[in-house]
Amino acid sequence: MTYNTETKKTTGIINHEQIMTVLAWVDANKDNKPLINEIMRKAREQKGLLHAEAALLLEYGDQDEIFSLARSIKDKFYGNRIVLFAPLYLSNYCVNGCTYCPYNCRNKNIARKKLTQDEISREVIALQEMGHKRIVIEAGEDPKNNPIEYILESIETIYGTKHKNGAIRRLNVNLAATTVQEYKMLKQAGIGTYILFQETYHEEQYKKLHPSGFKSGYSWHIEAMDRAMQGGIDDVGIGVLFGLADYRYEFLALLMHCEHLEKTYGVGPHTISVPRIKAADDINLDSFNNRIDDATFSKLVACIRVSAPYTGIIVSTRESTESRKKVLDLGVSQISGGSRTSVGGYEEKKQENTEQFEISDNRSLGEVVRWLMEIGYVPSFCTACYRQGRTGDRFMELCKSGQIHNFCQSNALMTLQEYLIDYSDEDTAVIGQKLISKELLNIPDEKTRSLIAQKLEKIKEGSRDFRI
Ligand code: SF4
Ligand code: SF4
Repeated sequence: MTYNTETKKTTGIINHEQIMTVLAWVDANKDNKPLINEIMRKAREQKGLLHAEAALLLEYGDQDEIFSLARSIKDKFYGNRIVLFAPLYLSNYCVNGCTYCPYNCRNKNIARKKLTQDEISREVIALQEMGHKRIVIEAGEDPKNNPIEYILESIETIYGTKHKNGAIRRLNVNLAATTVQEYKMLKQAGIGTYILFQETYHEEQYKKLHPSGFKSGYSWHIEAMDRAMQGGIDDVGIGVLFGLADYRYEFLALLMHCEHLEKTYGVGPHTISVPRIKAADDINLDSFNNRIDDATFSKLVACIRVSAPYTGIIVSTRESTESRKKVLDLGVSQISGGSRTSVGGYEEKKQENTEQFEISDNRSLGEVVRWLMEIGYVPSFCTACYRQGRTGDRFMELCKSGQIHNFCQSNALMTLQEYLIDYSDEDTAVIGQKLISKELLNIPDEKTRSLIAQKLEKIKEGSRDFRI
């Protein structure tokens, strides 16, 4: 193909003019079957696509072919395992004016709440009692109420809270864009992935949707992942809130962002999140006319899977059970389960009005675990890579070579075994034990298989926290 896919200028991360040029190029090539076939052939090599190529497939590629390729890439790199996590909301104080979020500072209807360290500990115990080992902390941006010292103290509390056999073994953070110095502090505190959604990459739209507060600085926000990398955080998670601007624009920019990180730091994002805008207090969905339907959402997920095979894809409980089932099949590798999006929601269940968005999948973690097994997946509570120092380019190397598969399968079975013994009901445990016996045979290396079989027995006898 003749299109120049280099990303240059503007912020050096994405380039508006280039996106508009690519979109025009995509439309000009909608009937160019040889080109579309050539891109599909390249995609089948399972090494990813450049942003322009991916954009042409998204619009004019054959959906069945893309879905089938997305499934085979998912199978090759992620198998049938799904990693589970939960969000933990620390505080909904926020000085920003994001028009799509009920935590925006103009919203006087919502109750404002910030958890104390004791309350955080109780939330963590509630999460551990559910069976969670991996969480992502969330807080609004408010230097007075939620300063970095509060966040660091909270991280220490979370890692330090141990209840019965429970422990939070990996803590990811979804916090406002900050300085290199503060990213260094977060890294030192032992965070896993630093997650920050761009919300929308469309600068003009971004400015309209972020009329006030620190987050209104487009460049400050989009350059956050560069500062995080410079601060030593080599696992970063990016994302778009689909519905804020044209999805084709967002898709292209998202891939340009991946290309920028890979080119500049030698490692692309660890995860991509694909939330869609949801109803919430003070948020009228009718004012967002770029919302996408389920069919477009599925094609987007499949095209991300095909374009960025080595990057995990996350969907939250914003999506319904049905929608999650569909996209699990097309490439999603991590989902949240049993989530509460209110501050203090795990301990108190019924909270005063502090929710960030309405949840569509309201099932408990136990129900999600059972459901995953019933539809052919292995629920995983694995947190091994980060704890074994397999992050950044080390992780990507293993992922690109397909070797990560061996680690993931073994760790999934061991953590599922722990879950079944410590947290599940009897019926789920029966289903789970059968699944573990079957999946054990899928560990190709005989030595590893026998080692994991021994560890599974040891877990039944009371040992915990094995990992490879
Ligand atoms: Fe604050 Fe984040 Fe909500 Fe914006 S999206 S209002 S920064 S909590
Ligand atoms: Fe994730 Fe690594 Fe565990 Fe695989 S082994 S599930 S990549 S943490």
